[in-house]
Amino acid sequence: MIPLFTIGFLEINWLDIADILLVTVLLYQLYKVLTGSVALKIFVGLLSVYLLYLVVKAAGMELLTIILGQFMGVGVLAMIILFQQEIRRFLMMIGKSSPFNKDNFFLGFPWRKAETENRINLTPFIEAAKSLAGKNTGALIVFARSSELKFYAESGDLIDAVVSKRLLLSIFNKTSPLHDGAVIIANNRIKAARCILPVTENNDVPASMGLRHRAAIGLSEVTDSVVLVVSEETGQISLVRNGEVYRNLAAADLRSKLNHFLFDIEPKSTTPAGEKSVSVA
Ligand code: ATP
Ligand code: MG
Repeated sequence: MIPLFTIGFLEINWLDIADILLVTVLLYQLYKVLTGSVALKIFVGLLSVYLLYLVVKAAGMELLTIILGQFMGVGVLAMIILFQQEIRRFLMMIGKSSPFNKDNFFLGFPWRKAETENRINLTPFIEAAKSLAGKNTGALIVFARSSELKFYAESGDLIDAVVSKRLLLSIFNKTSPLHDGAVIIANNRIKAARCILPVTENNDVPASMGLRHRAAIGLSEVTDSVVLVVSEETGQISLVRNGEVYRNLAAADLRSKLNHFLFDIEPKSTTPAGEKSVSVA
């Protein structure tokens, strides 16, 4: 193959560029499959052990090389067992992809903005949040983004219903058996209720924020989801993203922030006075 250009002693040709691009696509899809599950942490852990093994081997530390080498020897088998679900999801995702498919494997990239017809209608959420806040009823609503958060949805009761204000109000009604925990919204549907989210371990979270807010922060730290919280104690509405809490939002702010966070629509006005944003990231 004729080299395209050379970097030092490296000769780069078209095939190398295609190779790098395909690995990038694979890694990105792998990341998408793993976000929202504990598997990401396990993967990072395994990768760290492997890197340590390479360093130790290069440094010639024999005993540690043997010990880590044994670990690496069973690594592939361990990975298949540990990532059973993720491997299935990954293979299913590849299987579903075809150049003519809407959920195309290659087109699921961040630069491909959400299509207008796929945009979720925010009104039921805003109306429900206003109503719940007015009655000091607590609520926790997760908007899934790149990952469907199946792992967390399965911790609760699966619903898979069309979004409506009345259904949201019924779920969070204090006498409802489903009101505890979080509701997960994915693919324009109410996927599950009573879901358990990971609580943040960040010590900088103000003591005034209890478990509901900590669970919202915790999930937003490990996934790209956006979480809406209605406080039972204060009736305040907050949004949480990337570990950051935007507190005490009025309905209009809530809509513009949701539009911004979910669909990348920049807010028209500047940040209204009185809105408190607590950064605990
Ligand atoms: P509020 O302002 O509404 O009182 P808070 O942040 O002070 O909220 P708590 O008073 O501790 O939080 O809220 C407890 C509720 O939060 C529980 O009844 C439950 O519904 C929800 N919750 C607690 N932990 C989790 C969790 N890990 N995942 C999902 N929901 C949770
Ligand atoms: Mg509380």
